Amino acid sequence: MFWHDFDNIIWGDLMQNTQFQFSKLAGKLKSSMIRELLKYANVPGAISFGGGTPDPETFPRHELAQIAKEIIENEYKYTLQYSVTEGDPELIKQILILLKRVYDIDRLSNENVLITVGSQQALELVGKVLIDPGDYVIVGDPEYLGALSAFRMRDTQFLVVKFDDDGPDIDMVKQKIKQLDDSGQIEYLKFIYVVSNFQNPSGITTSLEKRKALVEIAEQYDLLIVEDDPYGVLRFKGEMLPSLMKIGGVERVVLLNTFSKILCPGLRIGMIVADKPIIRKLVLAKQGTDLCSPSLTMRLTARYLERYDVLEQIKPAIDLYRKKKDTMVKALEENFSDIIGAKWTNPEGGLFVWFTLPKSFDTMEMFRFAEENKVFYIPGEAFKPFEEPSSSMRMSFCLPSIEDIHEGVKRLRDAFDKYRSYKGL
Ligand SMILES: *Cc1c(COP(=O)(O)O)cnc(C)c1O
Repeated sequence: MFWHDFDNIIWGDLMQNTQFQFSKLAGKLKSSMIRELLKYANVPGAISFGGGTPDPETFPRHELAQIAKEIIENEYKYTLQYSVTEGDPELIKQILILLKRVYDIDRLSNENVLITVGSQQALELVGKVLIDPGDYVIVGDPEYLGALSAFRMRDTQFLVVKFDDDGPDIDMVKQKIKQLDDSGQIEYLKFIYVVSNFQNPSGITTSLEKRKALVEIAEQYDLLIVEDDPYGVLRFKGEMLPSLMKIGGVERVVLLNTFSKILCPGLRIGMIVADKPIIRKLVLAKQGTDLCSPSLTMRLTARYLERYDVLEQIKPAIDLYRKKKDTMVKALEENFSDIIGAKWTNPEGGLFVWFTLPKSFDTMEMFRFAEENKVFYIPGEAFKPFEEPSSSMRMSFCLPSIEDIHEGVKRLRDAFDKYRSYKGL
């Protein structure tokens, strides 16, 4: 396969030759760049920093298998039946305990929680109940791709705010809001979306000052904040900062979370924590989507949480991720310190390092040199709210071995050198 064809697969319109009359929305849907790029990451001998998934060896498979057998045999009247749309009450009970432990948020009850099919469904449902076509949402640059896709389904207009080393550029947030306010359109601004801890893709954590500033802005303009926090408890070092929900309260902040990154994604258990009237609307929207989340995996998760302390269970995985992250940062130092303008994040948790080359480089363009060297990453362009080149890349350290991380970064340096001479820089 030539690079040229590859390019067409990524950006080509696969719908062009069909005689169906698709909806306007379907017409706009495109295959994700990540999906296409990673098809080639499975060639023998390849080292991939592209994956965004946790290490399957961290999944408690024996424990889950045992519980699954028990609950299918003994609790079949629940596990093999439809559930209520809100979610398994047994699971919600466990989630409330966990929310208290992790975020120290008081006054939450059953009616503040909706169980979703992963937090991807949470993003989709939040879009459905809050966004009308043409409405505005504030997102980051770079931003979590799944959120961008979910909000795009609602024909959202993105107000894009640069992500600094300590979170969203607050002056830019204020400036974008002021522009809308001045043009009389502030009522069409629906919420600020932010992945507050170890953002996917950048690994950046929003500082306490910026969290407070975001809440203040939201209060001033009566906006919601949608806080997405799948990585918060995957912290390698330092103290957890208060969540936006803790600072702003349940009236101001909608909190999304998931068991995908701390237990396993295959269960597809996510959640929305929000003010009761918002949850009630979300429940209605979910009814039209899938009636209820799978009873089996909800109860499986509930019984697992009852029997095991998930925050303890995840500790060995956190130790492993810390080691791998340290290895990646060290390898980047060893291989790229001489490149003026190259920089990388050193996250205190999560799964990703964000590696930025000097401005004149384009990581999408460089991809074919990396592919030749059998090393893979996700070009930063994938995480741009609007299509534009990027000199950054997302590098996941959680799947490759320590040795492969060293070797992969070396290969990356070699690919960089080849790309640099190709560009004549
Ligand atoms: C992984 C991830 C999710 C969603 O994962 P689900 O498996 O759908 O729960 C949501 N937001 C961010 C930022 C993520 O990285």
